[in-house]
Amino acid sequence: MTPGNRKGMFYMYKIMTPGPTQVAENVRLARSLPCTNPDLDEDFVEFYKETCEKISRLLHTKNETLILGGEGILGLEAACASITEPGDQVLVLDNGIYGKGFADFVSMYGGIPSLYTVDGRSPIDVTELEAFLSKSHDYKYATVVHGDTPSGVLNDIGKLCPLLKKYGILTVVDSVSAMFGEEVRADRAQIDLLCGGSQKVVSAPPGLAFVTISADAKKAIKERKTPIASFYANLKVFEHYYEEKWFPYTMPISDIYGLRAAIDNIEADKDILKRHAAIGAAARYAVTKAGLTLYLKSGFSSTVTVFEVPKGTTDKAILTSMKKDHKILLAGSFGSLSGKVIRIGHMGENANVSDMAEVFGALDEVFAKLGVILKTSLKTAFLGSLPG
Ligand SMILES: *Cc1c(COP(=O)(O)O)cnc(C)c1O
Repeated sequence: MTPGNRKGMFYMYKIMTPGPTQVAENVRLARSLPCTNPDLDEDFVEFYKETCEKISRLLHTKNETLILGGEGILGLEAACASITEPGDQVLVLDNGIYGKGFADFVSMYGGIPSLYTVDGRSPIDVTELEAFLSKSHDYKYATVVHGDTPSGVLNDIGKLCPLLKKYGILTVVDSVSAMFGEEVRADRAQIDLLCGGSQKVVSAPPGLAFVTISADAKKAIKERKTPIASFYANLKVFEHYYEEKWFPYTMPISDIYGLRAAIDNIEADKDILKRHAAIGAAARYAVTKAGLTLYLKSGFSSTVTVFEVPKGTTDKAILTSMKKDHKILLAGSFGSLSGKVIRIGHMGENANVSDMAEVFGALDEVFAKLGVILKTSLKTAFLGSLPG
């Protein structure tokens, strides 16, 4: 092991993956604050609630947010578990791996998923969905992925969710890898259950999920005829936590201290959306200019750039050389995209010019070593295209 030492931190690799992302030093240090008993110390209950309220504010909603003690996936499962009753019809919008994956959570809790599957290289077309809904709209809720990270496709939740709501369909939105790197206006979009996680743009270590819950979602949960078939993946168990000063299970206090520091960082970072957009655009420009092929046709998320593995090499060769020769971790993808693409995660702490320039400089050398001829230097194109 030859750990690097930058920003005063010891680590093996620079993690430029689409989650987990790099963790700021103040977030890391917040996790080492002295611990209290989160069940018995009322100050912690206040701290938890304040942190939840900050998340709601940043998502532009008056709805309540709950932080759950588990990785991002727990939020998706808890949202589905809490509103699915056996026999419920659920529309699963699928233009990516996470999109399709929702069908499993739906059926696991007795719902009947109907897949609305469209091309995975573009966002879901709002007009086409509207045409579909005008004929078929008997669904209790729909699942929508904001940024489907394995391909990088970004769906327009600002248009999709109000459209679904128009038909009385509740929405469960996975914005785990997009929120705070892409605009989310939860109230304006009328999102019912909005899921986020700690390890993507938020840039805290993995371990926490959060879910923002609308009044309609609360009503649907309240009016269930059958109990929620889970304790841990269950939003209802938090119902009176604040009044009773009692959490359904002991909260991971150090994780929440870290999350709070990360949320404070986001709150103070007034240019966060602009920076993500600029870095995303420059990354796509560089990839294209160098003669590589972006995976998507349209709907590019500002949080991740996904390009096809060029002919004559493999994802494994690229990723291994980046790791061994440059101490940078990039990601391949999985499912149907396995082996086909490389993903650069420029979300949260990763979304900065110097780390991205380092990634592209390293990729220039890696492609040269692997005998892949680029039309121009990725690094030069990236830096040259950035505004001012
Ligand atoms: C990362 C991510 C999650 C969280 O789950 P993982 O365990 O990290 O896969 C959920 N949804 C999306 C779109 C994500 O990118």
